Amino acid sequence: MNDAVMAYKAPLDSDLGKDETSSPIKLDDTTLRDGEQTAGVVFANREKVRIAKLLDEIGVHQIEAGIAAMGGDERDTIEEIANLGLKASVLGWNRANLDEIKMSIDCGVDAVAISLATSDIHIETKLKKDRKWVLDTVREAVAFAKSHGVYVSVNAEDASRTSMGFLKEYACAAEAEGADRIRFCDTIGTMEPFRTYKVIKELKESCGLDVEMHTHDDFGMAVANAIAGIHGGANWVNVTVAGLGERAGNAALEEVVMALKYTEGVELGIDTARFREIGEYVMGAAGRRIPAWKSVIGTNMFAHESGIHADGVIKNPKTYEIFSPAEVGLERQIVIGKHSGTRSIEMKFAEYGIELGKEQAAEILPMVRNMAVELKRSLFDKELLYIYNDWVEQQQEAATREADKPEG
Ligand code: MN
Repeated sequence: MNDAVMAYKAPLDSDLGKDETSSPIKLDDTTLRDGEQTAGVVFANREKVRIAKLLDEIGVHQIEAGIAAMGGDERDTIEEIANLGLKASVLGWNRANLDEIKMSIDCGVDAVAISLATSDIHIETKLKKDRKWVLDTVREAVAFAKSHGVYVSVNAEDASRTSMGFLKEYACAAEAEGADRIRFCDTIGTMEPFRTYKVIKELKESCGLDVEMHTHDDFGMAVANAIAGIHGGANWVNVTVAGLGERAGNAALEEVVMALKYTEGVELGIDTARFREIGEYVMGAAGRRIPAWKSVIGTNMFAHESGIHADGVIKNPKTYEIFSPAEVGLERQIVIGKHSGTRSIEMKFAEYGIELGKEQAAEILPMVRNMAVELKRSLFDKELLYIYNDWVEQQQEAATREADKPEG
């Protein structure tokens, strides 16, 4: 490893992940807020309550329950979640508006997010205000929330397009009023990990606030950016189950947890064995299915077809798997198809109680490949048995022909 990489890894190696009693990195799950903001997704009240309970059961540290200012069912559900007696902190999301913050606090949440845009394009075009207004407003909102004794996360919306100088000013203003954390929002998903690391490091050095990463997957880098932010000194990550969220989605809960564990050696104390179950529940509630190729919780994570891979995995799963399927609630599958090898064929037929020798498996293999190419997919168990029956028939016919041959 070169020096630059060593230096880059230094913050995690030295400071984080060593204390086994409490996680150095904490998760704030926003499936119920940003997740539900996904175009076309609405959760029923009871689904929201169930999701909150599931997240609490697996050990998520904070649950972003929704936006009280929306009123009606949204408000009532936040109140219900806040009163479940969860171990997790329950956070209500707000614009920097005192009435709206009061509505969240009245639901009984112990934490509020106060969101204000900090980039010039958002301040000038969307808010039609100026930077001074943003600073005055955040000061007032934080002071108001803190006077009610709640944990305050100050969100810098569109932080990734905010000038560094102003971002620091914003963070310092919030800190002076007693804020607990700043959420760095890559609202439009435009960051990459190397720049993220530098920006978060500089932000972290400029203020004493905890820093939270809120990243989007527009360029497929939400998880990478979250981890780069952690290297820069962030200690909270805002995630969603299966990466649900606006446009391309947010950093996925299960990907952040497993990547931190296996690429960084940082344990978050989350019950990962329920990841698949929770993913299925949330995606079902969202009217979606988990794609087979989804990182960490997709069924293809532990499906092996290629002869070389299947042979390796049969000998020792560690040859081609980073972690075991049970760790995320999945099962290993050896798929029989065009790329299978004889070892897989032998193993598959042994499951049906048919013990093939190496030679026999080698005779059946081309028949399997032909059918897989013809059907353009892997084969079902029944199809394999048909192939086996055909092969047995061929063997018998050949034996009969041999026996009928005239002697001499
Ligand atoms: Mn977002």
